Amino acid sequence: MLLMETIAVLGLDALPYNLLKTYAEKGIAPNIFNQRNLDHSFKIRAIPPVTPASWPSIMSGVNPGKHGIFSFSGFDKLKRKVFYYNALHLMHPRITEMIAYEGGRALSVNPIMDYPIFPHKNLVIVSNMFFTPKPLSYPKNLHEKYFSTEVPLPKNTESYIKYLNGLEALLEEYLRDPPSLIWINLNFPDTMYHSNPDTLNNPEKVSTIWSRIDKLYKTLKQTVGNVVTVSDHGFSKYNMRISINDILVNHKLAIPTRAKKGYATHTAPDRFSVIKINPKIMNFLIRTGLKDYVLSPFVRKVVKPLYAKLRGKKLIFGSSYYIDLQNSKVLYPTLYSFGVYIMDENLSEKVVSIFKKYKGLSLVEHKTKIFSGEYLDRIPDIIIIPDYDKGYVVGPPDIVGSVYTKTIVYDHDLWGSMILDIENMELVDIDYLKSLDFVENTVVAPLIQCIMKYPLSVYIDDKELIEKVCSYKPEYKNYKGKFLVSKKLAIMKK
Ligand SMILES: [Zn+2]
Repeated sequence: MLLMETIAVLGLDALPYNLLKTYAEKGIAPNIFNQRNLDHSFKIRAIPPVTPASWPSIMSGVNPGKHGIFSFSGFDKLKRKVFYYNALHLMHPRITEMIAYEGGRALSVNPIMDYPIFPHKNLVIVSNMFFTPKPLSYPKNLHEKYFSTEVPLPKNTESYIKYLNGLEALLEEYLRDPPSLIWINLNFPDTMYHSNPDTLNNPEKVSTIWSRIDKLYKTLKQTVGNVVTVSDHGFSKYNMRISINDILVNHKLAIPTRAKKGYATHTAPDRFSVIKINPKIMNFLIRTGLKDYVLSPFVRKVVKPLYAKLRGKKLIFGSSYYIDLQNSKVLYPTLYSFGVYIMDENLSEKVVSIFKKYKGLSLVEHKTKIFSGEYLDRIPDIIIIPDYDKGYVVGPPDIVGSVYTKTIVYDHDLWGSMILDIENMELVDIDYLKSLDFVENTVVAPLIQCIMKYPLSVYIDDKELIEKVCSYKPEYKNYKGKFLVSKKLAIMKK
């Protein structure tokens, strides 16, 4: 056995834990989904279950309060404005970077956040699949050498195959002298699930892509030996949508408006027809009780079924598009906010108690009870997570005129997966890990560092658990300084 183990990680965005067995039975990618791997598979929890937050938690071992990225977008309370996250908001290095700082070589494909990239002499980086506005690589010509400028699209199987072929060619070059760590993130199956939810339970409908990914896995297994498969959240079907902003308006904590000041744009799904009502009229109807006791029952029992019958679409009454970001006391600014921002801290307890009364929400807590770290100010004050397991999902920030909308929505859930296909299983206490109902997504990076025998970050969230399952006493290091320097250098060179 080598002193340091080499590991390859295959990140499959949104691969649900509860479908691993089904996929194995269907024989969809037999090198990944098989009985041996099922025996070494673990349920991992992602709060919040969203790509830009969960991958950094997985790759760094720390929660969003420490790594600084909570979702696609955040809300700047001072400017009262929505902003988008990118890699510059990342405040803790990922495992690929930590390994590089320790002198190991790493190949990093699509590290999230993926733009900009932070070059390092021990790192090979390709970033060309998720959110980056343009393909990037280090060394610079690498992207051109192996990939086309085309980003794989769910409706085009060919484009995925082309991408995976490029990846395989890149690996062929780098596996001649394998780096210590290879980490590959793919936006598959997530983009496929979103655009064609049928492929969630019927993966055979995209078997060509699954077979190609299976081949990639086989290559990694044969050349590197240790392969970890991991996903950043799960994916499910829901039948009830909750409107957070309707709750806020009903409790007079937010003001409806048509003004989009401070907002990012988005559109309502085309399977709905939205009828917009002047916010002043809607406010009047809410205040006087006319809406709840007269209009809503009539609309629910008569108008909506009639409309669905005639037009085949759901009818939604919207008071306006949005809530007023400039003047509201409590805000749910964007889809995937996973909570509300409170402009007056004194309202905190009141808001928690209001949301706790609504059914369909499994987690309503002040952020300090769930997260920790220096960057808590970027996180919504009250975390609100729907009861995904019971079919609830939280909707976009539009005010729709009712808190609950019966509908069919496919979206993320909390339960990602991790499969440890490791040759030397004695390095971690698999039985103990297996005895747990689930582990947090922050366990992944330090667990891999333990297996690789590299020092862990002093900031990791799950120190106790890692020390319990790691077969030796791990060493700790503070990698943050080096990371901040490499970020600064990357900005200067731009
Ligand atoms: Zn994702």
